[in-house]
Amino acid sequence: MTKNVLFYARYSTDRQNEVSIETQIELGKTFVADRGWKLVETYADSAISGTSFTSRPGIQQLLAHVKRERIDVVLCVTVDRLSRDVEHSSKILKELNYHDTAIWTVQAGQEISHIELHMRSTLSHELVEQIRYRTREGMKTAARKGTATTRLSYGYRLGQQRDANGDRIKGLREIDPAQAEIVRWIFEQYANGVSPAVIADNLNARRVPAPEKKYWRDDTIRGDGKRRSGILHNELYVGRIVWNKQNYRKNPETERRTARLNDKSEWIVTEVPSMRIVSDELWARVKERQLTTLENFSRTTTNRLNRTHRPSYLLSGMLECAECSGSYAIMAKERYGCSNHKSKLPVDGLGGACCSNQKTILRKNLEDRVLSCLPAAFFGMGVFDDVAGQARRNLAAFVKNEPDERQRISGELKAAELEQRQIIQQISNRAAEGRPRLAALDDMLDQLEERRAGLEARLKQAPAEEDFEEKIKKLKAEVSPEAVELILNSAFYYMREHADSETKQPFINIVRQFIQKVVIGKTPGHQPASLEVHGRIASILAAMEAATIMEKRFEALKQHDYLEKMRAGELDTEQKQKKLLDAYAEELSVKRLEWSNIQVSVVAGAGFEPAAFRL
Ligand SMILES: [Zn+2]
Repeated sequence: MTKNVLFYARYSTDRQNEVSIETQIELGKTFVADRGWKLVETYADSAISGTSFTSRPGIQQLLAHVKRERIDVVLCVTVDRLSRDVEHSSKILKELNYHDTAIWTVQAGQEISHIELHMRSTLSHELVEQIRYRTREGMKTAARKGTATTRLSYGYRLGQQRDANGDRIKGLREIDPAQAEIVRWIFEQYANGVSPAVIADNLNARRVPAPEKKYWRDDTIRGDGKRRSGILHNELYVGRIVWNKQNYRKNPETERRTARLNDKSEWIVTEVPSMRIVSDELWARVKERQLTTLENFSRTTTNRLNRTHRPSYLLSGMLECAECSGSYAIMAKERYGCSNHKSKLPVDGLGGACCSNQKTILRKNLEDRVLSCLPAAFFGMGVFDDVAGQARRNLAAFVKNEPDERQRISGELKAAELEQRQIIQQISNRAAEGRPRLAALDDMLDQLEERRAGLEARLKQAPAEEDFEEKIKKLKAEVSPEAVELILNSAFYYMREHADSETKQPFINIVRQFIQKVVIGKTPGHQPASLEVHGRIASILAAMEAATIMEKRFEALKQHDYLEKMRAGELDTEQKQKKLLDAYAEELSVKRLEWSNIQVSVVAGAGFEPAAFRL
């Protein structure tokens, strides 16, 4: 059957080895011709990254076309042509789905299922990673050529030389004499034993403009020995450029960009004597002093490591001050407070003033308030509906394949009747041949008759064949948004009410995936601090493997039950304890079977913006 086809091509400049629009269109034309389909129209977008949607006129025109004419297939070369963003794919998908238009790709040679499309656009995050990698590679090559431009270090300014056309030659730098003076002064001070904090205070007092930020801070000067960041570590001051020391990537848990040190073998060192500000002698003195303070340095590093190994609290690392955007951290015993407020450091965002948010909040209190708001907030965003819908679809597929009880019995009945007929045939054959009757054959015939009668009776009692529609209706009632909400609610309930940390622990990671950050704000007098919870809604669905959640809930329930029985003295012997644990294990294995049919797939729906809701 012929199909009406729209072809869509996209070219983005941010990818190397990109297939040109012309090539994509050629591939599409051949594909359509090979199948005897009809190419109705071709749409294309160029030089726009796949992640922006509204600025792609081609795809918009394509969707408009689908609305006005019957289109069977939208074809593109690969799935990531459509979009490299889950949310935008969903938008496109919804439209096409509504008009019964299928998506095909030349690459797959077949229709792409909606779930697959979702998953592929999720997977193309990998692509983003690849681009990042390529950019780094490109930078390396540029560094070898000596033309790369990265951030301008303190002490330098852009070169003012112009080429024959009078255009400023890009990428050139030169020493800024005034800043170079400050750099040398900082090196001298430090080599003479003055601490970076005192140096920073001195510079601020003299109103010396700081690099990037408004004020000098001790770490601007001291930096990080390992990463070799900070003024005292900058090798450009002795005429050396070290490239590719670290790379940045976004931590998916915290959404923060974190710097990671590259292996030393990946570093690229170029000598640029014209950039030298500090003498080798002064540099050496500074290095010497850094070594003697290395002991302090490694102590703080160890502390930092220890901190990451400590079991994290529910909201560790997610708390932000509403006033200064600094972090809220445990201050006094079990109380969170703004770190910047406590340290009284000038904050750039506040024009150099100190943060005045003095609100502190008890950890337990904060966790309770955040947890109690989550289920309701999800409900408002239709998450339960989506999860329930997905679960229902999976279950419906399962129901479809399940053999019917009546069908099974009548199958067995037919087999028994066939066997009966064969034995009767044997008996009459023997009689015709004048051979004596065999008791064994008679017995078999009796047994078969008994079985046949039994099956017939069961068939009569078997419930009338259930309508598929009926089954789905029942399923809808069972797997409803309300049921999902109930499951989530109980998870949060256990987080709140059963404070023993062992019961809580399995939930911490689940709940942490739902929350992006919590912003804590000032309120007058003794009123409790204001909270603003930012949810990471897209990842909720990813975390929403219902089976896993139910298993955790089951575990929590049983653990609680066990502890209660323990406290009540019901489990006074090892034997009793073991018996109960075995019973749990058995129950769990049965339940697991049930749950394995309610897998919710890892697909984020459209419209799940990270949203904020207030408490
Ligand atoms: Zn603050």
